[in-house]
Amino acid sequence: MRQSQLFTRTVKELPKDETSYNAQALIRAGFIDKVAAGVYSYLPLGKRVLDKICRLIRKEMDEIGGQEILMSALIPKENMEASGRWAAFDVLFRLNGGDNGDNKEYALGATHEEIVSPLAKKFIYSYKDLPFGVYQIQTKFRNEKRAKAGLLRGREFLMKDLYSFHTDQADLDAYYEKATAAYKKIYQRLGLGDITYLTYAAGGTFSKYSHEFQTVTPAGEDSIYICEKCSNKVAVNKEIIAEQNACPLCGNKKLTEKKAIEVGNIFKLGTKFSAPFHISYKDSAGQENTPVMGCYGMGPSRIMGAIVEIHHDDKGIIWPESIAPFKIHLLSLNENEAATRIYVELSLAGFEVLYDDRELSAGEKFADADLIGCPYRLVVSKKTLSADSVEIKRRSAAAGSLVKIKDLASKLK
Ligand code: ATP
Ligand code: MG
Repeated sequence: MRQSQLFTRTVKELPKDETSYNAQALIRAGFIDKVAAGVYSYLPLGKRVLDKICRLIRKEMDEIGGQEILMSALIPKENMEASGRWAAFDVLFRLNGGDNGDNKEYALGATHEEIVSPLAKKFIYSYKDLPFGVYQIQTKFRNEKRAKAGLLRGREFLMKDLYSFHTDQADLDAYYEKATAAYKKIYQRLGLGDITYLTYAAGGTFSKYSHEFQTVTPAGEDSIYICEKCSNKVAVNKEIIAEQNACPLCGNKKLTEKKAIEVGNIFKLGTKFSAPFHISYKDSAGQENTPVMGCYGMGPSRIMGAIVEIHHDDKGIIWPESIAPFKIHLLSLNENEAATRIYVELSLAGFEVLYDDRELSAGEKFADADLIGCPYRLVVSKKTLSADSVEIKRRSAAAGSLVKIKDLASKLK
């Protein structure tokens, strides 16, 4: 992509009420635009990152047999009443359809058990129809009270939500383990594996615990208690530390308190939704039974914010390669003819290149490259060309080195 064609630019003026680092950095670098507290638009660079995060998640969900769907964002009031959550869900956006004939009321989807359960009911008759898992990646709406943390707590945000349906608890338990392993793989691929903890939390309806995936960073709003003794990367959530004051796996009582961001949350729901929505199946003896459910949430937009909180320096963002908007940021310092040739060659070789072909000073281009944070910066200048080279520098490194133009593609691989 030629940077001269990008319709956005890096931004100097920040919204006055934006106090979170992740949103400040992303607005300044031109990834997102602030619409209101907790409400953001994703611009071309931001959309590329978000799409890469989603692609990575989608792959692992498909791998454990998840089938992707897209459910309605409007949820009729009666669906939410069937589960008792029309009144009980504190951050629900409730809408009145107005006088268009039926005066129907809706919630804007904050979570989708109330849509997926009646949907599943239409296709479950016998034990042969189970198990299955369906998921979606969709915008969710929650009128969060503390919407001051940028992408970490949006009033409108992206969620991947998977729902699984099973004949019995043992089958749910086995699938829950598979989903846990898939989640771990995703955080590993996102470069968060070493600082993300499987955290025991209250709230499982049909199990002692639910599990959160918590990524440790001072920017986090949650407190977790980490076991540094066992190698399992487990922790206990602050809300259950009173009753669970030792590592649930090794029994160690010396737990360390850390700030963390909840980047995923998985639950065994049992029959909490399948019962009120009257889902049933015939078992092999012809008896009617109620299936049990699991739900598995993950926040791609919150993950994007978390990665910015974790991977940056005082000059800007440092994207992990797996989700960077472009792998390479190619800067032409008044040498567009040679730089364009390199841009075309690298693009044809399959590299994702952001090519700064604008008529700006070297200082401005360097500053923008640091803000945007692509993993590799290439500089083409009179000086590098005199050695048939370009300068290559990792975003995370202090200094770069020269590489012969003919060796560039193989070096970058
Ligand atoms: P929290 O405890 O942080 O409010 P939650 O427990 O309500 O989150 P879930 O309902 O389990 O969250 O949602 C699943 C996932 O969606 C979370 O693990 C998180 O990654 C993401 N998520 C939840 N709320 C938000 C939000 N307001 N903004 C961005 N992502 C969110
Ligand atoms: Mg939670």
